[in-house]
Parts: sequence; C-alpha cells; structure tokens
Amino acid sequence: MIYKGSCHCGQISFEAEGMLEQAMECNCSHCNRKGYLLWFVPRSRLTLLKPDAKLATYTFNKHVIQHHFCPTCGCAPFGFGKDRSGAETAAVNVRCLEGVDVAALKRIAVDGRSF
Ligand SMILES: [Zn+2]
Repeated sequence: MIYKGSCHCGQISFEAEGMLEQAMECNCSHCNRKGYLLWFVPRSRLTLLKPDAKLATYTFNKHVIQHHFCPTCGCAPFGFGKDRSGAETAAVNVRCLEGVDVAALKRIAVDGRSF
C-alpha cells in the first residue's frame, strides 16, 4: 500500500510504502509537544515527490534523528534516522498522511520520557 502525505501548505509532499497497522505514540519532550504519531518504514520506502522542497531540520539529544518540518507551515511530516541495526529508517508522522483514520489506528505507547 502506498500512502500519500504532505505538510499543510503542500511544499513537502511524499509517498510512503508499507502496511500501516499501528502507530507509535511517544511521551518524550519532543514527540509529546509535536503530537507525533509515528510509523516506521525503511528510508528507501519513502519518496519525496518534490525533491527540491526546503526541509527545515531539528535535532536534539544525540542528534541521530533528523526531524524535518516545513519552514512555511510548520508541519513535521517525517524524520530520518537509523534503527538499532544501523538501517536507514524514516519515521512518518501518520497525521500528515491522506486517508488515514487516526482515531481507528492502534497506538503503541512508548515511554520515551524515561529513556
Ligand atoms: Zn508546509
């Protein structure tokens, strides 16, 4: 299944491929503020439809995850990093995907605040 996603103003537009069955809801200081509901896919499964779009980037803590957001509308549709095995991974904010019933999605609570 291919999901389309974008920021609010549309500067950032992308597709992510995979089976969206659950989303991670993390309570860390960053995820909590942004209200992220994250779905992880291999980086190769996320395609930027506007490759020249300006992505603003925020990093914190160990600076291993590039949290991207739109400099115009502020939406944060995804971040890029590596999983524990070192594989390039994309964390997609399912709130920025089209046609996803966020309320019906199974949520996995992650206690990032305690890490
Ligand atoms: Zn935007």
